[in-house]
Amino acid sequence: MFLSILKLFAGSHHRKFLRKCAPLVKRINVLETEYQKLSDDQLRAKTEEFKQRHAKGESLDALLPETFAVVKNAARRLCGTTSIVCEHELAWEMVHFDVQLVGGIALHQNKIAEMATGEGKTLVATLPLYLNALTGKNCQLVTVNDYLARRDSEWMGHLYRWLGLTVGCIQNQMPSEERKAAYGCDITYGTASEFGFDYLRDNGMALAPDEQVQRDHYFCIVDEIDSILIDEARTPLIISGPVAEEREPAFPRLRQPVAGLFELQIRLVTRLMNEAREELEKVGENKEPSEDALDKLWLAAHGMPRNRIFLRLMENGRWRKLLEKHEGVLASEIEKDRRFHLKERLYFSISERNHEADLSQLGRDTLRPGEPDAFVLPDLPSRYVELDNDESLTHERRAELRTEAEVAYAQASEDIHAIGQLLKAYALYEKDKQYVVHEGKVKIVDENTGRIMEGRRWSDGLHQAVEAKEGVALEKENKTYATVTIQNYFRMYQKLAGMTGTAETEASEFNDIYRLTVVAIPTHRPCIRIDDNDIVFKTRKEKYQFAIKEIAEAHKRGQPVLVGTASVEASETLGRMLAMAKVPHKILNAKHHEAEADIVSMAGQLGAVTIATNMAGRGTDIKLGEGVRELGGLYVVATERHEVRRVDRQLRGRCSRQGDPGRSRFLVSLEDDLMRLFANAGIVSSMLEKSFKEGEPLEHPFLNHSIGTAQKRVEGQNYSMRKRLLQYDDVLNQQRQIIYGLRNRALKAEDSRETIMNIVEEEIEARLDVVFPDPDGEAERRAADTFVHWYITTFHMRIDLEDILARTKAQVILLATDRVRALQASREEHESPEVLQYLERNVLLRAIDRNWQNQLTEMEDLRRGVSLRSYAQKDPLNEYKAEAFKAFERLMQQLRTDTGAGLFRTASSMEALESLMRRAQGQAKATGPAEAGATETTAATPTNAPKPEPFRRLTPKIGRNAVVRIRKGPETQDLKWKKAEALVRDEGWEVVETLSE
Ligand code: ADP
Repeated sequence: MFLSILKLFAGSHHRKFLRKCAPLVKRINVLETEYQKLSDDQLRAKTEEFKQRHAKGESLDALLPETFAVVKNAARRLCGTTSIVCEHELAWEMVHFDVQLVGGIALHQNKIAEMATGEGKTLVATLPLYLNALTGKNCQLVTVNDYLARRDSEWMGHLYRWLGLTVGCIQNQMPSEERKAAYGCDITYGTASEFGFDYLRDNGMALAPDEQVQRDHYFCIVDEIDSILIDEARTPLIISGPVAEEREPAFPRLRQPVAGLFELQIRLVTRLMNEAREELEKVGENKEPSEDALDKLWLAAHGMPRNRIFLRLMENGRWRKLLEKHEGVLASEIEKDRRFHLKERLYFSISERNHEADLSQLGRDTLRPGEPDAFVLPDLPSRYVELDNDESLTHERRAELRTEAEVAYAQASEDIHAIGQLLKAYALYEKDKQYVVHEGKVKIVDENTGRIMEGRRWSDGLHQAVEAKEGVALEKENKTYATVTIQNYFRMYQKLAGMTGTAETEASEFNDIYRLTVVAIPTHRPCIRIDDNDIVFKTRKEKYQFAIKEIAEAHKRGQPVLVGTASVEASETLGRMLAMAKVPHKILNAKHHEAEADIVSMAGQLGAVTIATNMAGRGTDIKLGEGVRELGGLYVVATERHEVRRVDRQLRGRCSRQGDPGRSRFLVSLEDDLMRLFANAGIVSSMLEKSFKEGEPLEHPFLNHSIGTAQKRVEGQNYSMRKRLLQYDDVLNQQRQIIYGLRNRALKAEDSRETIMNIVEEEIEARLDVVFPDPDGEAERRAADTFVHWYITTFHMRIDLEDILARTKAQVILLATDRVRALQASREEHESPEVLQYLERNVLLRAIDRNWQNQLTEMEDLRRGVSLRSYAQKDPLNEYKAEAFKAFERLMQQLRTDTGAGLFRTASSMEALESLMRRAQGQAKATGPAEAGATETTAATPTNAPKPEPFRRLTPKIGRNAVVRIRKGPETQDLKWKKAEALVRDEGWEVVETLSE
């Protein structure tokens, strides 16, 4: 049977893979037949046996046939039993098919198994998950939503548990102990963002090892891998919080001028369109319109593409075609000047396709009349050189002028950026389309589902720009605490695999970025779905009318229909039209995963009509009701082509599962965004001219092709956007790995003191480099003075200038570090070892976290900065890399400085802190003669030292506005010192640490 499937199947690398699997599948089935003779207990005992054999060195590959056979045999034994899945009793009635075994092998070998909808991917995953879990490491399965994570973990849990493995699932809002327990299981189900956020919390925020919840990033299977790694990959995961202080944003100040400019352009384009219309209406059948009229159309297309008159004119195939021709002419190299001058008639140009809006010179002059340089960034480096070379300046004056230049630069770059974002907000973002304004807030609308994305904000100031445009209060930009892209999260796994119904169109991306190959697994039964040609309509209205007619007819026959829509708005429109035609129906729009899964599962019943956006009810199988097979199975009517082919294929794949009959058809109108922006309009226009005259819809294989080409173009563009994002993120990713590595070591270290002391020593040495220009020579007095000052402010201990001047560099390093070491050691008498260990670890963690968060902000700014720089003909990515490297070096330096500075700033109580300060002052006495022996003259220090620094009762580091963390019993609070002081004095609270000064 398996070989016959193989013959049916074309595609050489797929065939090669299948041929290699054939003997394995055979062996699994032979073993499974043998296992049928075993008792339940004997079969169950296999799990432990496999674990031990693997521990003794047998590879997973070698264990594969036996383990797969055990899982398959267990599934067979479970038939006839039931389990509770999402509060419903569900009968188990599945034994792995041969093609499912092949899918399992592919997953184990880190491949993407492309298997059509309804082929039972949920069951396929049990095979490799069981096998890989034998290592004792946590194996994971990623689902598209929380509901499916729960459903599948409970459903398949029946099988795993029977075999002696534990299963858990992660749900949104789950407390961390439960998460930890779920990751503690052999197998864990959950969504990509839950896994990703847990990773960020574990590595960027946990303050003690037991706060970390994840165990391993070992083996992970991503279900619907294309939607996770491709669709979701555009928005990175971000954990953020409000920023403390911030400069006034420039948006409110610049809003009015940009709005005015937008208004001017509207008026300009409307005037041009009125003129063009007048002329075009007069042009006779066989006469050409003037060059000027075509220029005007071109200006509208580039200046205000959604202008109503323009859109109406474009419904006429003849004008449409002429404009395209004109566009082609103007795009040529020879017409560069003309194009340029034409563009200069506009205030700004809009490209919906590239999502860009650019000011023209006219626009710039209008915004900032008489300031030709307002949009040029000042050349800071040259200004520096100029100032440095100007002998007439005093040192102070030079510094002043430098600062002035920096401020001017910052201001200019902020304004340029704000104007750019405001222009986008006006030109490309439409209220109630890309966003809504609700209760004084601007909220993003998800373009795929039409849902409001609560709490999400556009980045890079765009959100604030839209808020300024709508005149609502600007919300504070958030500061990023931790961030990772979905791509980089999944690239961490030692073994990654995926399943999907549709991976082929993105196969090369999977290969390039994740090194994952796609293999298409044949279906268990041949697919007999009928895919009809697309039908193209002139207007959306005609398209919908046709859809209603088609649905009503199918409904009358009793054939169930699944109506696919691109947005919630479209579902509702269709719903209203169906109601008027008196066709009973259900509407789903991905709001309630669980309820929708129930409804979708009924979509195959006699006469059912179900409208669904492409996200709604995903992952739920549609079974055909009685008598439906005879009527041709489920009929999928798609009312729009999606931007990318994959989503369309997903929709088609919802019918004809497991050899069922079924039919699919796409309806398209020239008003759809895809057609408007991307279609190879030359073909479309000529078709239009020929056929639309009678007002009839078009249907031709040629059209399918042209739509496919449009989609490929979008896909290509999206891919390069994702790749670009990733190239930038790669830079950050390397840094993140270093920092998270450091942080984890700090978090898990039994003893952080040695690490801290090494850091302190490095810092001291680095600072002494300046004091001793020649390592074997003498100290420089002025630099040594600075060092003395730094030492006392950092460690609260004195070091004498004379001591430095009398020693070599190596001796000073020793002296200075040993004192810190000794003072820290002396704390053991006043603090318990656990507390001291905790404090030491926290010094490191705080320094790492503060600096890493600053780095994230800096890198965001940098990214914005380099995109401005691309005007200067440099590759922004290279600039970004170079600057990022420097920023990271600065971070590492600052990390060192902060570690030293944090060391003596925290204690478990005020008393402990005070006594520490007292000892710091009387350091030599406290450190004792042993120390003196090591550094010869230390004992002499206090006697000839200058008068000790005055010292207040509380450490001078705590100012009234400083924020401190205080503790009483298990409770902690973060308060300003002016509030906390009374609690500490009167109510027995203790200061744990100073959080900010
Ligand atoms: P997919 O995720 O591939 O679309 P599902 O995992 O949701 O498919 O399974 C689709 C349906 O096929 C389910 O109802 C499941 O019970 C059924 N099924 C899967 N594998 C088998 C099998 N080996 N034998 C019988 N039914 C199966």
